[in-house]
Amino acid sequence: MWELFNPDIYAYVKDEKIWFDPQSGEKLSRCPFLEIEKPRYPTSPTRYTCGIYLDRPDDCRQYPSLISEMIADECEMIETVDLNHPKRAQDALNTLMRDSR
Ligand code: SF4
Repeated sequence: MWELFNPDIYAYVKDEKIWFDPQSGEKLSRCPFLEIEKPRYPTSPTRYTCGIYLDRPDDCRQYPSLISEMIADECEMIETVDLNHPKRAQDALNTLMRDSR
């Protein structure tokens, strides 16, 4: 679909894999669509956003699926209460992500 409707995204695809530099063909070390949000205040913490949110890959739509995955990835959205109650956190995550799976 990107090839047809989002050639700017498809430019970063090579052999049906993401993300590759369109010029060099080299594998990128991070997603080229990860953007830094404009801070609301000078003291605001750095926040990131997806530049292709509505067209993001399925893997991104379905992430995270497991609390253990979030812990392994050091996901910033995991909270201490989740670490202390992983079963409850997984149930909450399942509810939150039910429309993405
Ligand atoms: S959600 Fe996916 S496409 Fe969007 S910035 Fe993150 S890794 Fe990139």
